[in-house]
Amino acid sequence: MTTQSAPTAARATVYGYPRQGQNRELKKAIEGYWKGTASADALRQIAAELRRANWQQLAADGIDEVPTGDFSYYDHVLDTTVMLGAIPDRYRDAVEADPLDGYFAMARGTQELAPLEMTKWFDTNYHYLVPELSPDTVFTADSTKQVSELQEAVALGLKARPVLVGPVTYLLLAKRAPGVPDSFEPLSLLDKLLTTYGEILADLRAAGAEWVQLDEPAFVQDRTADELDAAARAYAVLGGFTDRPKLLVASYFDRLGEALPVLAKAPVEGLAIDFTGPAAANLDALASVAGLRHKRLVAGVVNGRNIWINDLSRSLSTLATLMGLAGQVDVSSSCSLLHVPLDVAAENDIDPEVLAWLAFARQKTAEIVTLARGITEGTEAIEAELTANRAALEARAGSALTNDPEVRARVAAVTEADSRRSVAYPERAAAQRARLGLPLLPTTTVGSFPQTTELRTARADLRAGRIDAAQYDERIEAEIREVLAFQEKAGLDVLVHGEPERNDMVQYFAEQLDGYVATQHGWVQSYGTRYVRPPVLAGDISRPKAMTVRWTQYAQSQTDKPVKGMLTGPVTMLAWSFVRDDQPRSETARQVALALRDEVNDLEAGGASVIQVDEPALRETLPLRKADRAAYLAWGTEAFRLTTSGVRVDTQIHTHMCYVEFGDILNALDEMDADVASLEAARSHMQVAHELGDAGYPREVGPGVYDIHSPRVPGTSEIVSLLRKGLDAIPAERLWVNPDCGLKTRGWPEVRDSLQHLVNAAHEVRGTL
Ligand code: GLN
Ligand code: ZN
Repeated sequence: MTTQSAPTAARATVYGYPRQGQNRELKKAIEGYWKGTASADALRQIAAELRRANWQQLAADGIDEVPTGDFSYYDHVLDTTVMLGAIPDRYRDAVEADPLDGYFAMARGTQELAPLEMTKWFDTNYHYLVPELSPDTVFTADSTKQVSELQEAVALGLKARPVLVGPVTYLLLAKRAPGVPDSFEPLSLLDKLLTTYGEILADLRAAGAEWVQLDEPAFVQDRTADELDAAARAYAVLGGFTDRPKLLVASYFDRLGEALPVLAKAPVEGLAIDFTGPAAANLDALASVAGLRHKRLVAGVVNGRNIWINDLSRSLSTLATLMGLAGQVDVSSSCSLLHVPLDVAAENDIDPEVLAWLAFARQKTAEIVTLARGITEGTEAIEAELTANRAALEARAGSALTNDPEVRARVAAVTEADSRRSVAYPERAAAQRARLGLPLLPTTTVGSFPQTTELRTARADLRAGRIDAAQYDERIEAEIREVLAFQEKAGLDVLVHGEPERNDMVQYFAEQLDGYVATQHGWVQSYGTRYVRPPVLAGDISRPKAMTVRWTQYAQSQTDKPVKGMLTGPVTMLAWSFVRDDQPRSETARQVALALRDEVNDLEAGGASVIQVDEPALRETLPLRKADRAAYLAWGTEAFRLTTSGVRVDTQIHTHMCYVEFGDILNALDEMDADVASLEAARSHMQVAHELGDAGYPREVGPGVYDIHSPRVPGTSEIVSLLRKGLDAIPAERLWVNPDCGLKTRGWPEVRDSLQHLVNAAHEVRGTL
């Protein structure tokens, strides 16, 4: 364990804090501004108040050095684009006319301007706005936001450290501006960009910054030799500037690998490194790099992206090891606390037993402070905290919730055969063809139909007690009848019930599974003013009773056409929840898979001949490091097969995936062994069909022919031409016709027309086969 004496003073810090405020004040203020009900000044004032409250809270809780510049009206990568003057030409006028409105134009578009592309921040659920660069991009330093936020914190008497997206990560996250040739690499702008960073660093120093943090999470991904060279050059140049604050280069979300020696050698004064999850490998790696003796090491030992209490003793021993390696060791979270909810204290509906295992941003801050005190004052000084922490961890480990003997026994008894269909695809396909009797190019949808205001009102009415369960069920049944009537009239072949009873494709199941816990205020920023409240996989998972069978059966009773049963798959259930950290994810996935397997089997017993299990998030939680991907995909696809393999030969299993470039996971699709896969493809002009065709994918595929992300109605001839493209790659016997994804975010008028065109197109192409 750690030393008893107090060898050195460790500082407590964090890299960023949730922006929204206790009651999501920021969301309300920004949306109010958009609607015109709040002025820009009012918005600025609320934002300044929230920043002040956060800093004062952090300081009062014992944080020695608060972060500044991490605040954002929308996204910190977009803020970086503004800071660098890298505003794409099409927004220039808007930004000049009004910087705030121009900023929001880049973020969310206007009537005339499309927004910047938005994509996921590494493997988190936070989305950033992708910088657009070209060989002509001119960078100009605008340090106003960074400087003024630093000054705000300094004026409160606080020690503050500006946090900036680092130059290499900024370029690696950028894309080519429209029309720029493929040969252009954003990284080629590095030298120009460094000059601009130099000016910003000088401005921050002039404004009183002792340290500036440069975030380089791109260093934890597999990088080419050229990219590593660029990283080395970047920090040699930045380090060589004389008029600058001390530099702290931060990385997080995974291990640094080959980038670690590069950073260790760089002429910067500090490194902030993640020691949690897959990044725990950094600890061993550090022992073999030289150059840390004279550096400040900020140790990310408190996981900044899960919601579980820290194992304080374990962190202390990590810190003790680090103190043998670096000149100065400080304590932090592994990444910005932006990725976790604000405060456990706001939760009054969670079982107190579970509550004691949870740490949101505020609790994580306290853990960091405790650990820093443990180093500075010796572990005796934090004996009470250590005892309480040990007790909570022991209670969690011994809890009935995390140790359901039935679930454990069932998982332990799973064999390889349990996750395999009884016969191979060709034989299944023949049996399913005989049972279903579908035409060539069968038409179907991905599951949901428009979630109308009436449906949302019905749910709200039920919650508020304005209607009872029976009345609510009647409304859902009426909606199902309408959805079915439309599909019959349009001429679709495999119908769906439309998912009107689901608030969300993960939450709906989480609410019905034992072992899952819901939060009341556990909001996390997904993008801009959109916040999500992921459910918590807290204990062993089991299914007390059937979850969807009633609705699917009801739907099937209303029509002679097959109705697809519709479930969310195990990997997606994990990806969009907070997952327990006291066992491998693969174990949790198996538990969820077994619960879903019972649902699949019950759907079949209830008469379903087609069952779809959605895995839209399979690609999303793919590990950042390629070396870790095979293991992830192995357990992920096994969980899918475990969910779906208990059915009869002639029951057809579908899966669905979207939001992806499929290139990385074609093999995984094969491993899932679903009879039919519907995949997003409309925007990429059926690219996935060709990728699958080239790879010799043997099963049935429905590459999407209707882009559901836009209200635009695709014409019949357009769908016909997409289908012909699909037929170039996939034979007619194995090609399905469906939209890209569910229709819940669309309106009925456009859905009616689009699906009618889809059916008409299928008929037209069928006639030519
Ligand atoms: N079945 C779901 C739906 O249609 C699938 C959603 C998704 O893939 N994101 O809504
Ligand atoms: Zn989808």
